[in-house]
Order: sequence, then structure tokens, then C-alpha cells
Amino acid sequence: NPVVIGLTGGIGSGKSTVATMFGDLGVRWVDADIVAREVVEPGTPALAEIARHFGEGILQSDGTLDRAALRTIVFRDDSEREWLEGLLHPTIRDELASQLQPADYELPYVLLVSPLLLETDQYTLVRKAIVVDVPEETQIDRTMSRDSNDREQVERIIAAQMPRKHRLERADFVIHNDRPLDEVRAEVKTLHEQLLDLSRS
Ligand code: ATP
Repeated sequence: NPVVIGLTGGIGSGKSTVATMFGDLGVRWVDADIVAREVVEPGTPALAEIARHFGEGILQSDGTLDRAALRTIVFRDDSEREWLEGLLHPTIRDELASQLQPADYELPYVLLVSPLLLETDQYTLVRKAIVVDVPEETQIDRTMSRDSNDREQVERIIAAQMPRKHRLERADFVIHNDRPLDEVRAEVKTLHEQLLDLSRS
């Protein structure tokens, strides 16, 4: 099985951008945000549990999860948030573990791209962690122009995430993304060679 390398960073730091650069080098990755949505699609055991716990009102008329309603509940009530995380985090982790073993794959490592790599038990899935890092001001600017969020919203999300300093302390590798994409691409190429060596040995 390929070695799993984590790729994380705060909102708007450039995780997807950097993952795509690895992808151009032939590296496969699994996106934890996508898996987090897949495990609560209609027909999944997790969605059934959620509907049992919060009532059918948590579903929309088409049977999909009413994320806005769920967010409102768990935002107001820590014990409900803990219940939900207790259900979802292990489910997401198991699904990630299975998707991180792609069939017909030549390279010795795969990436797990996740904003919550270091905040959840997902880090137990990875051998090393790459952190994509930019100053907070860059995070705010880029997220605002990408999502047309207002500054306050973005600042609130950043405040709720792991502080930049803690994230960097836990990084095995750092990609500095507050510079032109060509330079970032070169850094990714160098890191790719390192990761090939590391995961073959
Ligand atoms: P999120 O956690 O919000 O999903 P992310 O960490 O995946 O974000 P991206 O979506 O890759 O971040 O990048 C955020 C925005 O910044 C995007 O619009 C992207 O095109 C832009 N961006 C990323 N890296 C650079 C760079 N080096 N120079 C200029 N713009 C960049």
C-alpha cells in the first residue's frame, strides 16, 4: 500500500491549489471535504443516525441533509456538536482509510488533503504532514475574493481553526504559498522528489 502523506492548511491557504500541482506530477489524493459529504449522502448509515437523533426535520424534502439547520443546532449546543463529531469523525476516518488505497497505482505515496488533518484523528492515517502556509492577511484576501465572503466571516473561521503557529509546529514540511505560483510549483516538485525517496525507503 502507498504511504499516506497529509496536506493541510487554514482556509484559503492554498490546499487545493497545491494538491493540483502534485496531481500534475501524477500523485493521487483524497479530499477529506468530499469524503465528509459522501458519508452523509442519502442511504448512508450516518445519515440515518442523524435523522434518528435530530428528527426527520433535519432532512430536506429530497432526503438530503439540511446542512444549514444542522450547523445552527451544533453551533448553539456543544453537546450536540460533540455527539455529531463522535459519529462523523470515525466514519470519515474509516472511509478515508479505504479510499487511500487506490487500485492500479504506481507511485509510492498518496496525499490526504484535509483542513482538519491536525485537529482530528485523521493525522493517525498519515506518515508525514505538509502544511501550506500563508500569512493571515493573505488567507483573508484570497478567501474573500474567491468566495465573496465578508472579512468578518473569514476572520471568524480563521479564529475557529488551529492557530497558524501550532499548525507550523506540527508540520514535517511547509509549502510557502505567499508567492507566485511558478515558485510554488518548483517547491512542490522538490518536495515530490523528497517524498518519493522517503516513501520508498
Ligand atoms: P479552503 O480551505 O477554503 O478550501 P484552500 O486551502 O484549498 O481553501 P485554495 O482554494 O487552493 O485554498 O486557494 C484559495 C484561493 O487563493 C484560490 O482562489 C486560489 O486560486 C488562490 N491562490 C492559491 N495560491 C495562490 C498563489 N500562490 N498566488 C495567488 N493566488 C493563489
